[in-house]
Amino acid sequence: MKKISTRTIIYTMIIVVVVLLLVDFYIWNRTRAFLIGDVKTELAKSMGYVKTQFDLESLQRKDLVKLKQFVDLVKSTTGFRTTVIDKQGRVLADSEIPVEGLARVENHLRRQEVQLALRTGSGIATRISATIHKKLIYYCETLKMNGRVVGFLRFALFRPEFNQKMSAVLGMILRLNLILFFTALVGVLIYVSWINYHIKKLRLHLLEQKKTEYRQGLPRQDFEELDRLASEVNIMAEKLNALLQELKQEKLQLLNIFNTLGEGVAAFDARGLAIVFNRSFFRILQLEESRIQNQPYYDVLRFPPLIQDIENFLSSGQTVKTRSKYFRDTYIEYEILPLKSAEKQPGCFVLVVRDVTHLERLETIRTDFVANVTHEFKTPLTSIRGYAETLQSGLAKTPELQEKFLSKILNQTLRLENLVFDLLQLSRLEKEEVEELREIDPFPLVEEIGEEFRLIARSKKLNFFAEIQPPAKDVLVRANPDLVHALLSNLLGNAIQYNREKGTVWLRAGVREQVLRLEVQDTGIGIDREDQRRIFERFYRTDQAKTISAEGSGLGLSIIKHTVELLGGSYGVESTLGEGSTFWVEIPLVDKEDRI
Ligand code: ADP
Repeated sequence: MKKISTRTIIYTMIIVVVVLLLVDFYIWNRTRAFLIGDVKTELAKSMGYVKTQFDLESLQRKDLVKLKQFVDLVKSTTGFRTTVIDKQGRVLADSEIPVEGLARVENHLRRQEVQLALRTGSGIATRISATIHKKLIYYCETLKMNGRVVGFLRFALFRPEFNQKMSAVLGMILRLNLILFFTALVGVLIYVSWINYHIKKLRLHLLEQKKTEYRQGLPRQDFEELDRLASEVNIMAEKLNALLQELKQEKLQLLNIFNTLGEGVAAFDARGLAIVFNRSFFRILQLEESRIQNQPYYDVLRFPPLIQDIENFLSSGQTVKTRSKYFRDTYIEYEILPLKSAEKQPGCFVLVVRDVTHLERLETIRTDFVANVTHEFKTPLTSIRGYAETLQSGLAKTPELQEKFLSKILNQTLRLENLVFDLLQLSRLEKEEVEELREIDPFPLVEEIGEEFRLIARSKKLNFFAEIQPPAKDVLVRANPDLVHALLSNLLGNAIQYNREKGTVWLRAGVREQVLRLEVQDTGIGIDREDQRRIFERFYRTDQAKTISAEGSGLGLSIIKHTVELLGGSYGVESTLGEGSTFWVEIPLVDKEDRI
């Protein structure tokens, strides 16, 4: 990255050097012109005199010997090297070159002083002499005849003081240059670091502000340019803060929605690390939240079929949706989908998980239920068919046998009827489709049912005791007579059915702590502890009960359970295997204040 300070230093110094060179050039030329001007005046004077002595005729004739004599004479009187050049630039005489050596001297027409003289009449130039290797001053004037240039007369002289002066000027210029160059360099360095200092100060303020999320803003700056920059940064920071708050709020809302989803969702990047996930994800997969941070999915998910499915998805790109048994009797359904991210990175995916344990249980209940109902229907139907076929075939010949078979058919039909009745009642209770509940006094009803079952018990040679204790004041429960009847008839029916020979049945009814308590006790086969927990399930029958009677459907206690739940009460059983059982039901009384 380019740096303003370095650029400033480089560009400034280039400008300084260029300006210095221009100034140097100017000074050098002016000084030289000034010094040469002096020499020129002096030489012009001598040249003027020499020219009056010059014999133009000998030039015209190219009388080299005479011309040589002349130039030697001039040299001896003035001390200047003297050269005579014709108008084509040929050297005709030179005080330093013998006549015979002239042929080797190159043409002088292109020499600077000759050219100047050709244009203006006189010309002066300085250069290092090829013969003596010293800096010489050359002064040249035209020689004219009848107003026409016929040749040139030139002086060359060595002036050490002129060169010394020029060297002194050069030295002075160099020193001055060095001083100015370094002064400019120091100046620009100071300037740049001063600017840097102010920029750095602004940057430090910015860094401080970053910690507080630009709540205070940048302070006023000493310089207008920086101050304007600071106030624009402040405006921008304010806008960004507002936007940030909005985004935070939105993010929070989305996160809340995301977390309230019943489905578990997690997105993984191409390295297999989770980038987003919600709470349900951990709950459903029974994972700890800390496990997922910076861990690849194959270390986080401890379920090999799921890991295998992810790997299949990553290699084939085929989305996966499957249901599987998970840990501890739970069931999950999961989907693996590609993550349609903005970057379109391959290998990113979303994992959606659902807890389907409940659905799976319902499914099991439903299939069990169908199997049970089918089983319950099949036994009576098979025997009805058997008896009917026997009758039809005429194998039952005697009227007594026929009568016996017909009564068997009737019994099985009754059993089927009871089964259908129980199923319908159960289904109505589950759907709460029962006759409207109202406030009733239960005691007269309980007494009536008690009498009904006293007769049945007697017919089975069982003792029956009804201990019905209505309180002095009247009590009411929210129920209907059919439900109370269903409750007691099922309990009493079981107490009679599962009793032993000459056993006893007790029916108790009383009120305690704002509930009506109904109890049915028997001295029958009893129920072991394990079975006590299951007998209220639909179709559940104990092995002992099955040996005593093949006819029960296992629906009676289930009907009791649903009825009591509908009435807002509770139920239970205490029993000892081989000794007898006590079933109880409690129904809340209607509060006096609540009575209509
Ligand atoms: P069912 O009597 O038609 O079999 P229930 O739902 O009324 O169906 O009873 C479920 C099971 O509970 C019975 O099969 C029986 O094993 C057990 N049970 C119910 N009442 C008694 C009782 N008084 N004594 C012993 N076992 C009983």
